[in-house]
Amino acid sequence: MLSSLTEIVGTDNVLHSPEDLIPYSFDGTAALSQLPLAVVFAKSTEEVAAMVLWSRSQKIPLVTRGTGTGLSGGSLPLPGSVVLCLAKFDKILEIDRANLTLLTEPGVTTLAIAEAAASVGLFYPPDPGSMKISTIGGNVANNSGGLRGLKYGVTRDYIMGLEVVLADGSITWLGSKCVKDVAGLSLKDIFIGSEGILGIVTKVLLSLVPQPIARETILATFPTLESAAQAVADIIAHPVIPCTLEFLDNATIRAVEDFAHVGLPIEAGALLLMESDGHPSVVEAEAQVMQEIALRAGADSVKRAADEAERVALATARRSAFSALARVRPTTILEDVTVPRSELPKLVRFIQETALRYNLQVGVFGHFGDGNVHPTFLTDERDKEEMHRVEEALLEMMKFTISLGGTITGEHGVGVAKKPFLPLQLNEDTMRLLSTIKRALDPDNLLNPGKIFDLQPSGEKA
Ligand SMILES: Cc1cc2nc3c(=O)[nH]c(=O)nc-3n(C[C@H](O)[C@H](O)[C@H](O)COP(=O)(O)OP(=O)(O)OC[C@H]3O[C@@H](n4cnc5c(N)ncnc54)[C@H](O)[C@@H]3O)c2cc1C
Repeated sequence: MLSSLTEIVGTDNVLHSPEDLIPYSFDGTAALSQLPLAVVFAKSTEEVAAMVLWSRSQKIPLVTRGTGTGLSGGSLPLPGSVVLCLAKFDKILEIDRANLTLLTEPGVTTLAIAEAAASVGLFYPPDPGSMKISTIGGNVANNSGGLRGLKYGVTRDYIMGLEVVLADGSITWLGSKCVKDVAGLSLKDIFIGSEGILGIVTKVLLSLVPQPIARETILATFPTLESAAQAVADIIAHPVIPCTLEFLDNATIRAVEDFAHVGLPIEAGALLLMESDGHPSVVEAEAQVMQEIALRAGADSVKRAADEAERVALATARRSAFSALARVRPTTILEDVTVPRSELPKLVRFIQETALRYNLQVGVFGHFGDGNVHPTFLTDERDKEEMHRVEEALLEMMKFTISLGGTITGEHGVGVAKKPFLPLQLNEDTMRLLSTIKRALDPDNLLNPGKIFDLQPSGEKA
């Protein structure tokens, strides 16, 4: 096996000794790990296509991987699989200033794309908390969101075109630089958020937008998480759509302050980080409305960031929420439930009550403006009894989220971690449709099999 792999990518781009495989045996998801047979680094579309043909001839599944920051086990290797890592396939190929587009290979980090856009005075808004290390290929495959999703949308909203290697080894280009393009079916959309199970993304054509010229960041503290949730619901209903409406509960505020030392108010029950960007007059008006609504909803204090340094420090502190919570207990189980924004107060109350009922430690933070909540259970996978309580609490939380018209995952994807919950949200016919599409595009089930759903035999109900 090894010699055929090194023939495709060269000896320096194949790992096979167990100690070298360990870093590729897990992603950012707790309690999941599995050694692959080998890790292969491909650096061109041709090498990816050759790897797909190799996988077909050997009947060995391929698990595509960016930098493994995923939070649902999407790039977790399956037993007997080879990891195809694209982190070294990492050049920005073109910035087209006239058409406001950027063409890139899949292994470029999200931050490098944002910086390249900024270097020519443009803006790439999607900003997952992991943006310093996550790859654009992973962002496409998970349709990742970020702190600015409320106003600017998610990765999908910036994808104009994709080059994809299909399961038969062929290379297809989907989309164009045209702002309007309805020729044929909207095929690129099938691959966005497909978690590597339908094809392998080898180039991405992104759209860029003008840089906002002004920004205001407001920090509001609340006695309870519920009152912060109410402020968010009121801001959206006003309606004001700021760039960012992020929140942290008390457990997360304490963990972040202990980690980042930015002077967060550790006694606050909850904290809202609100950012408005755009034209200075609009920014000022939005900031004032948000301050007033926060106070009406019961905020204890509301203050604006004094300068750019404070603004960046607050945003960085928010981005470190997951890493900060991960230091509290050995195992961190982070969820990604999302509800219509009017239902946020009910959801956060339920999460807190459920954690109390099951005697569990939970930190809650997330993109409140998107209705996207990250309840983070702080636990220890070696304690089987506590893990059982976590599983029970998770199941209740998923069912409650769905009952509010919500979804089990707003941005992290299903992978393997949320696979058991998917049939709670999608009906049998929809589950069958997923299998039909997978079978049509990957008949031998070799591209990241076993992720999102188990393939149903043709014609059978899920
Ligand atoms: C601290 C932290 C903060 C985070 N914050 C956010 C956040 O704010 N918003 C958010 O949405 N997510 C967030 N995430 C989750 C994660 O960073 C994103 O899902 C990210 O897009 C994954 O990119 P990656 O390169 O690490 O992909 P990986 O984890 O390597 O892979 C993710 C999935 O994409 C597939 N894949 C990867 N590359 C390709 C490709 N080229 N073609 C086809 N399939 C591919 C894999 O098979 C897998 O299913 C966070 C994670 C961490 C650790």
